Amino acid sequence: MQVPAPFEYARATSVQDALELLERHGPESHVIAGGHSLLPMMKLRLARPEWLIDINDLAELRHITEDAGVLRVGALTRHAALLGSDVVGRLFPIVHDAEKVIADPVVRNRGTIGGSLGQADPAEDLTTVCDVLRAQVVIVGPAGERVVDVAEFHRGPYETACEQNELITEVRFPIRTGSASAYEKVERRVGDWAVAAAGAAVQLGDDGTIADAAIGLTALGLEGLATDAAAVLVGQRPSEDLIAEAARLAAEASSPVEDQRGPVDYKRHLADELTRRVLRRALERVGATATAA
Ligand SMILES: Cc1cc2nc3c(=O)[nH]c(=O)nc-3n(C[C@H](O)[C@H](O)[C@H](O)COP(=O)(O)OP(=O)(O)OC[C@H]3O[C@@H](n4cnc5c(N)ncnc54)[C@H](O)[C@@H]3O)c2cc1C
Repeated sequence: MQVPAPFEYARATSVQDALELLERHGPESHVIAGGHSLLPMMKLRLARPEWLIDINDLAELRHITEDAGVLRVGALTRHAALLGSDVVGRLFPIVHDAEKVIADPVVRNRGTIGGSLGQADPAEDLTTVCDVLRAQVVIVGPAGERVVDVAEFHRGPYETACEQNELITEVRFPIRTGSASAYEKVERRVGDWAVAAAGAAVQLGDDGTIADAAIGLTALGLEGLATDAAAVLVGQRPSEDLIAEAARLAAEASSPVEDQRGPVDYKRHLADELTRRVLRRALERVGATATAA
């Protein structure tokens, strides 16, 4: 089925107006941002909203601002704007790594960070990025504003803490000194969804040991972070053996399923190999060299 079922359409003029429209038109009204996830779902009749509430005019949701130790990114910020932002690349190179391999320029010119998180597709790249950077999601609704850790925001595939009558307005990334991050994805062809991907962030202490680490996996059946894998890194000096052990634990924590993108053993191998690569790259970026043991 390539044509959506009939729907009504309203264009919000402000955040408040969007909330009122969602309230007025009830449970079968849905926000539309870039439309690059929702419209394909509607064409396949996997989603049948009666009302689309278009938020594309809300310029107040389209910002990238460094502010008191936090990078604030408006929910309507497009993939292309994230990729084009110097401040994003400097503070969080993992975002640029991921954005370079999200779909193609047509999708990146329309798709938004709020829509990516709102969709909560298990193969979606920015979810892992936000997990690894321990981002927070700002949600507004009839009861006011709340700030939710991204770990709490995601409730499972296609399910989030954002209710139907609420709006994601901002994603906040804490800026940590002495830290760096990286993301790598294997795809069947350029622009495709991940067969598998991994992201990592590391923070180095003054003594050269790893003060903090986070590892996430995409399309590999891991909910949230690979905490055991990250824990073996903390307090240690970077070394190839340490990276190999963390990667082994990340692969062990993964739970991939066989599909048209590959069998389980191949995907688990990718979990291990991609975790090694992103840890090495994040450590290089923060100025640490992993020595052979
Ligand atoms: C051909 C193709 C290839 C793609 N490849 C990739 C890929 O490799 N990696 C990847 O990560 N993504 C990929 N995508 C998805 C793309 O990144 C989408 O842009 C993104 O998933 C959704 O963003 P959007 O703004 O288009 O959201 P929409 O489609 O507008 O919305 C998606 C969902 O989020 C909700 N929503 C949107 N904005 C808000 C908000 N502010 N508050 C509350 N709810 C909101 C909507 O109601 C809807 O449920 C691909 C898409 C296409 C079409």
